[in-house]
Amino acid sequence: MVDRWRVLAAALATRSRRFGTRAQLERHQQRRLQHVLNRARRVYPFYAAAGTSLADFPVLDKATWLRHFDGLNDRGLDLAQCLAAARAAEADRSFEATLKGVSIGLSSGTSGQQGVFLTTPAEQARWAGVMLAKALPSLREPARVALVLRSGGPLYQAVHGGRITFCYVDLALPPDAIAERLQAFAPTVLAAPPQVLDDLAARRSSVSRPDLAPHTIYSIADVLDDDVASRVASGFGCPARQIYQATEGFLGISCEHGILHLNEDLVHVEREVIDQSSGRFTPVITDLYRTTQAIIRYRLNDVLLPGVPDCPCGSAFATVARVEGRADDVLWLPDQAGATRPLFADFVRNAVLAAPGVHDFRLVQRLDGSLGLAVRPSNAQASAHRALQRLLRSRGFAEPAISGRPWPVESSIDKRRRVRRER
Ligand SMILES: [Zn+2]
Repeated sequence: MVDRWRVLAAALATRSRRFGTRAQLERHQQRRLQHVLNRARRVYPFYAAAGTSLADFPVLDKATWLRHFDGLNDRGLDLAQCLAAARAAEADRSFEATLKGVSIGLSSGTSGQQGVFLTTPAEQARWAGVMLAKALPSLREPARVALVLRSGGPLYQAVHGGRITFCYVDLALPPDAIAERLQAFAPTVLAAPPQVLDDLAARRSSVSRPDLAPHTIYSIADVLDDDVASRVASGFGCPARQIYQATEGFLGISCEHGILHLNEDLVHVEREVIDQSSGRFTPVITDLYRTTQAIIRYRLNDVLLPGVPDCPCGSAFATVARVEGRADDVLWLPDQAGATRPLFADFVRNAVLAAPGVHDFRLVQRLDGSLGLAVRPSNAQASAHRALQRLLRSRGFAEPAISGRPWPVESSIDKRRRVRRER
């Protein structure tokens, strides 16, 4: 159980920290970075011989970070014992693996290696407080917050009771059961993955007096496509904001203008630009507050499209036009000159979903470079196929072999990924 006072203290501290200018924000980041790096050399064996500035610390991808897991936590825990404990807790859906006073969580639903993330109760309380401060319109007003999640999060455990009431709904339940529970709870704030919001918006438009009428809606845990965002906004009559969160950290949240901002008060973000013309980048993050485990120059597997330079909300935090999902969601294709270039998932999404008759699709780039396309309904296959060919041609790509494939089996827990590269 998390200490409510710690949650409140973190919430109030977050609300009271104001950064009027980018320079003020950068001073705060530099102070925190110095603290994080000094401590890192002292407590994490992996960094014992590291230099004094951020550039002296290596950029780590997830695989490398996991390989050095033992030297990157301050408890001397090793990866095998943590994995075993976490998997046992997942298997019985208790989600409460702890070792040496530290909770062990697995990163969810991604392909490839599962990440293992360690947090103390104090860190969880801090996270919950920060989340409340950033996500709730007011800390004084009563709120009924519903979360549709893959597993019970620390936020739910942290702040039950008081003016803020929580309802946690398991994402693994069938859609009817999720809708029923939410209707019974009648949340003022609803946070759910985009596919759940989409389903709820459709149900809501089909009844004359809907019970489910939250005033604030957050899309969590997956990429929010423009088409889903507009269906949710019209179904509920309020915009779908985004919470950009990963097990690696609480990375961003939309402001009241619906613009996604990076949480640069919590996380220092370096940009590895992968496309000069659009500025698309892969974020390399350093968490400024986490203590049990080092997240220092950790490369996320996401692609971000930078947003407007100045948001009307006045925040000094950088804006993001779109989170395009994992770097695996980028196709790499030869162009007509023979050079390999990226094709970003949102281009494919926009082109194929705009094709006549296409409701949904899944595209995979196979290891041999060919493309496999599954389409719903299946009689729109040719239409989707033509749209994809037109897109490739218009962007100067040599056309790879494209073939139809059956719709893949996806569990409700699986993240929906329309575009994916096998690797
Ligand atoms: Zn803003």
